[in-house]
Amino acid sequence: MREKPVRDSYLPYGRQWIDEDDIQAVIKILKGDYLTTGPAVVEFEKAIANYVGAKYAVAFSNGTAALHGACFAAGIGNGDEVITTPMTFAASANCVLYQGGKPVFADINPKTYNIDPQKVEELITDKTKAIIPVHFTGQPAALDEIHQIAKAHNLVVIEDAAHALGATYKGQMIGSLSDMTMFSFHPVKHITSGEGGIITTNNEEYYQKLLQFRSHGITRDTEKLMGYHGPWYYEMQFLGFNYRLTDIQAALGTSQLKKIDKFIDLRKKYVSMYNDAFKEIDEIQTPYQDPNCSSSWHLYIIRLDLEKLSGNRTDIFEALLKENIGVNVHYIPVHLHPYYAQLGYERGICPNAEKLYEEIITLPLFPAMTEDDVKDVISAVKKVINYYRK
Ligand SMILES: *Cc1c(COP(=O)(O)O)cnc(C)c1O
Repeated sequence: MREKPVRDSYLPYGRQWIDEDDIQAVIKILKGDYLTTGPAVVEFEKAIANYVGAKYAVAFSNGTAALHGACFAAGIGNGDEVITTPMTFAASANCVLYQGGKPVFADINPKTYNIDPQKVEELITDKTKAIIPVHFTGQPAALDEIHQIAKAHNLVVIEDAAHALGATYKGQMIGSLSDMTMFSFHPVKHITSGEGGIITTNNEEYYQKLLQFRSHGITRDTEKLMGYHGPWYYEMQFLGFNYRLTDIQAALGTSQLKKIDKFIDLRKKYVSMYNDAFKEIDEIQTPYQDPNCSSSWHLYIIRLDLEKLSGNRTDIFEALLKENIGVNVHYIPVHLHPYYAQLGYERGICPNAEKLYEEIITLPLFPAMTEDDVKDVISAVKKVINYYRK
């Protein structure tokens, strides 16, 4: 493959789409009274709650902080066990550690790549307090089964829906189906606020705790105050954090949310171009879709049939990079990171996730790419697979 690369310029795997109206929305805030948490945050929270069909939403400085807040609100504390998937970004498990809890990794279903409810059930002990399913790539996890297990064992369900804004499960929008649901607004996600995250919930108690946790554990709510020194008075009632989103970011988020339908439609269109192009390539497995769900397609991941190829995943990954295709790998299973290994998590506890990790490559997918970009990716994949075909 010494010839000229398929593309002259590098195509990233994901990036934001910012229009002039997004820029104007931010400028308006910069000229106004509030920079940090003010009316634009409230407006953004309402817009997200309304979009996903939840009663409440609490915005955080990022999705990881939001997950931390959810673990706090769920009452996760020292020694409590929380079951999650290893096939995710480390934040899905780190949020449990922040609260002194213990993440327990349940292996994935090898077809959907999502957490396997059967494995969740097997790992439940009298210390288990919650389950954090992740809607990997945007395809919702098996929520009915997970809710059934949670009900039987009195567990809180916190959905990590960082990939799944706009996805549906059995026709219902992700964001109002579990105790709490987290969305992230990092620039590679469906919509962005620069950094940002949110928890949606229908539970007023969680809502109140989340608000207070986001701001140092402080309240000014007269109904909650234990004392009163005068009109300036507020109380810090538990150890919270400064996890507030700014109005600057929230205004960008609200402006972006207006375009979510277009963004998801474009993602779906590019996915069907990929699926059509790759279905006749034996060496590539395209993503299985659960007929119960509609994915919002954060990521497009191909799985390589390495038996049929003369190179390994690294060879193919590097060859695609040489074609200027911004490939990636999502994810290194969380328990394999050195930090987790040092906590005692061992290779072998989640064989399906570990095997999947060796065989996957994430291809570029974002609404701001063009059909020609998609065609470049397809050409590059075909070129590289042809080269390594046995
Ligand atoms: C992006 C992401 C997060 C964290 O969100 P941030 O806003 O980057 O903190 C958590 N879980 C998953 C699966 C993610 O993709």
